[in-house]
Amino acid sequence: MDFGGLLHWNTKYDNSHMTSTRSYTCGYCGTHVSSEKGLRLAQYKDGSGDITGKGIYLCPNCKGPTFFDLYDVQHPGYLIGQKINHIPENVDSLYEEARNSFSVNAFTGVVLLCRKLLMNIAVSYGAVEGKSFASYVQFLFDEGYVSKSSKQWVDHIRKEGNSATHEIEIKTKDEAELILLFTEMILKSNYEYPASIPIKNEN
Ligand SMILES: [Zn+2]
Repeated sequence: MDFGGLLHWNTKYDNSHMTSTRSYTCGYCGTHVSSEKGLRLAQYKDGSGDITGKGIYLCPNCKGPTFFDLYDVQHPGYLIGQKINHIPENVDSLYEEARNSFSVNAFTGVVLLCRKLLMNIAVSYGAVEGKSFASYVQFLFDEGYVSKSSKQWVDHIRKEGNSATHEIEIKTKDEAELILLFTEMILKSNYEYPASIPIKNEN
């Protein structure tokens, strides 16, 4: 990480309180917290010139330290989505890799992994191989693997996928979060929930 020589710690003044309170999801305990305690970042070598909202915040729940850098990126990030039961091992490892990528701010990686995963799922349900990502999302919707109420979501993800299939564009946190939650929903509704319902023996 390059801070261009701007990184100094305010160790001179009272450090128990930050200059501003921050709300964030803690990467250690997963709790959404509001913290005002930590170690401030300062503009000057002598520790003066606080940079508001940047520095190490301590989680009031688990006491873990989270660093917000000058670009306002959170380290460590947090996991989104939940662990899913009853999914094939290769699907599970791709999904978990996407979740972990999100936690280290590797958003383009999240989007590419989720697209790969969604294409594999569509093919496993009978879609033809070698088609575009957008056509697989449409397939999942048309065949009822995505609920009708998620139509707007589907349209957005499909359009996103259409915009650049052959170029790799840098993806934002919002795009990564959207496709990861979409993937989570598909996995839950098509693998986890059906497998959790006990089937009664008719005889
Ligand atoms: Zn915590």
